[in-house]
Amino acid sequence: MVDVIVAGGGPVGTMLACELRLHGVDVVVLDKEPEPSPHSRAFRLQPRTMELLDYRGLAERFVDGRKKWPKAHFAGLQPLLELGDLPSPHPYSLLIPQAETEQLLAARADELGAPVRRGHRLTGLDQGGDGVTAEVSGPDGPYTLVARHLVGCDGGRSTVRHLAGFDFPGTEAQVTALLGDVLLADRSQLPTGVPGTLRTERGLLMAVALEAPVVRVLTTEFRPPRGDTACPVTIAELRESVERVTGSVVDISEARWLSRFGDATRLATRYRRGRVLLAGDSAHIHFPIGAQGLNLGLQEAVNLGWKLAATLRRGAPTALLDSYHDERHPVALRVLRETRAQLALMDPDPRTDPLREIVGELLALPEANQHIASLVSGTDVTYGAGQGDHPWIGRPAPSLELKTADGPVRTAELLRTGNGVLLDLAGTVPSERYADLLASRSVTAIRAQAVDVPGVEALLIRPDGHVAWAGTGRDPDLPVVLETWYGLAAR
Ligand SMILES: Cc1cc2nc3c(=O)[nH]c(=O)nc-3n(C[C@H](O)[C@H](O)[C@H](O)COP(=O)(O)OP(=O)(O)OC[C@H]3O[C@@H](n4cnc5c(N)ncnc54)[C@H](O)[C@@H]3O)c2cc1C
Repeated sequence: MVDVIVAGGGPVGTMLACELRLHGVDVVVLDKEPEPSPHSRAFRLQPRTMELLDYRGLAERFVDGRKKWPKAHFAGLQPLLELGDLPSPHPYSLLIPQAETEQLLAARADELGAPVRRGHRLTGLDQGGDGVTAEVSGPDGPYTLVARHLVGCDGGRSTVRHLAGFDFPGTEAQVTALLGDVLLADRSQLPTGVPGTLRTERGLLMAVALEAPVVRVLTTEFRPPRGDTACPVTIAELRESVERVTGSVVDISEARWLSRFGDATRLATRYRRGRVLLAGDSAHIHFPIGAQGLNLGLQEAVNLGWKLAATLRRGAPTALLDSYHDERHPVALRVLRETRAQLALMDPDPRTDPLREIVGELLALPEANQHIASLVSGTDVTYGAGQGDHPWIGRPAPSLELKTADGPVRTAELLRTGNGVLLDLAGTVPSERYADLLASRSVTAIRAQAVDVPGVEALLIRPDGHVAWAGTGRDPDLPVVLETWYGLAAR
């Protein structure tokens, strides 16, 4: 029996496998495709995702010469969102094709001993009292695999979600979008306003230059999908859609990748059913606007990884696993609301124009701009009240430049191992007294000299970088907090 089967070796499944391996969890990642896709859906990583990658020492290899854009779009409105003033050490969108994100994560999973088994499709699952039996169809034929837990990271059409009986309520698609990574016979044919997004009375056209000579052409028509949506998109279909939206004819000479999607918006009502959990697109689908889905999924993987590891390795109570749903479901709900709001603002109906103008005026106000920027970048995610009422509790730990006996260190660097950290900023925490407790909870005690942290002597930081507790070193709550570390996360 293995500890965890991750069904789906896309970005979310691979990230989750990396998190589990940090804690020595025995994990098998299955992916139905024999090769990773060379095509990229996502192109942007958000500030909170960059912070998480930084915690694990991966930010540098992701940045590696790529563009850091200190802005973000909201519903194609002007002014753009300003990320530069966010309270984050990574106040930018990183422009990186999804295929490269996946390569970097797969390399990391290899390093940590969790290579993706490619060409292995999960076809069945059965939950028993002690474990989950998965039926898999691999290159050498079918086989079964038993694990203590199984996580469905198998995308929007998730087999796991279906087989394990998760409810997935929501709304049907009312919008039809076609995507083509194409070569144009003549790029000057693109209508005025492109590159960028063109909004006409009949829909939206977005065109952006990818690696030359490829151009991504994306049309969005505000009508429900017609015909067979499983049927492959043709060049003619994309050309006709461009013509309907813009009135211009664009001569597409070659297509590298064609795809269709819509604004069906759904969210699993629970993220866990017994020993089966969901993460990433398997748990939620929405219109891909504002660079949200991949970021949301990676953030889920980092919330779930340490909790699943603590359950398997250190006997943490089931309540800790439930806190994954309790903390992340509301965040996904917010993202669904925000993508629906953006799409509603993009509606080509001229009656939407006054609304766009008013929201544009609001975005020109720095406070409103920051509010929306924090929302789309994920930097304002707070996991409710923990133990005590310090305002930092539940928030991402502040980025501090610390001085320790081993030299200067940033808060993010303390989280490389994936363990929690008890940060003693005033030399008042009797950590020797708590040595056994700290070891059993996989919490590392660090003594550091604080720089400008008024009123805080000690911080307990979770492996996902959120503050679990803040107070004074001799606070009688501290041993209780450590004792109930897992219960604490479950609130
Ligand atoms: C046009 C477009 C642009 C986007 N832009 C952005 C963006 O800029 N930023 C952003 O954050 N998000 C963006 N997204 C969303 C993003 O692409 C997805 O949210 C992301 O890919 C989800 O990752 P995942 O790992 O959950 O699922 P997927 O990437 O769908 O991976 C699922 C994996 O599971 C495998 N699988 C499926 N079924 C099985 C099975 N039965 N057995 C084994 N393996 C299986 C698949 O082969 C696949 O590798 C965009 C989406 C689109 C369509």
